[in-house]
Amino acid sequence: KTFRDLLCDACEKLGYKDPTPIQREAIPTALSKRDVIGLAQTGSGKTAAFALPVIQELWDNPSPYYAVVLAPTRELAYQISEQFEALGGAIGVRSVVIVGGMDMVTQAVALSKKPHILVCTPGRLMDHLENTKGFSLRNLKYLIMDEADRLLDMDFGPIIDRILKVIPKERRTLLFSATMTSKVEKLQRASLHNPVRVAV
Ligand code: AMP
Repeated sequence: KTFRDLLCDACEKLGYKDPTPIQREAIPTALSKRDVIGLAQTGSGKTAAFALPVIQELWDNPSPYYAVVLAPTRELAYQISEQFEALGGAIGVRSVVIVGGMDMVTQAVALSKKPHILVCTPGRLMDHLENTKGFSLRNLKYLIMDEADRLLDMDFGPIIDRILKVIPKERRTLLFSATMTSKVEKLQRASLHNPVRVAV
């Protein structure tokens, strides 16, 4: 089976027949190598809107620590990671969840296995960047910030700024938010390069 067949099978299994409006807008934009700001609520299908183009590009050129997804809560991080595995598991995409409140050593072992996708809360990701031997994001290709308005409301802004300093400038960035606040705009200016805005 080809990559295309396997991805179609995965979508079918999940009951995805037609793309949702945000997917229709965001997926081709991301695949055209542009940074994306997606204004979309939970329930719009935004997770697959960023997971599918990342999986497609990862397939073309796989490498460890390919993408980091920053999420405001542990629960959301688990949901995102599950979707990456559901869509990409059959083609070998491996995802781990790196969130606070869980054992650092267990997470360090999971990181040492060089997964493609890291779904993280910002504080714990920074903790590993500072303290886990051998772990770095110098080959990161994609940064995704999900529910950016909530990330900033929860005061993750300063930690995100620190993360931005230690990841490659040559990367793609996707930012999703339910609302466009002045804080989100500031983060957008600090992290995205000439983005296309898609809204549903
Ligand atoms: P999200 O907005 O990413 O939290 O997705 C909300 C729900 O919609 C999840 O249960 C997804 O599995 C589902 N979903 C995402 N894309 C599609 C699609 N194209 N067709 C049907 N359901 C979808």
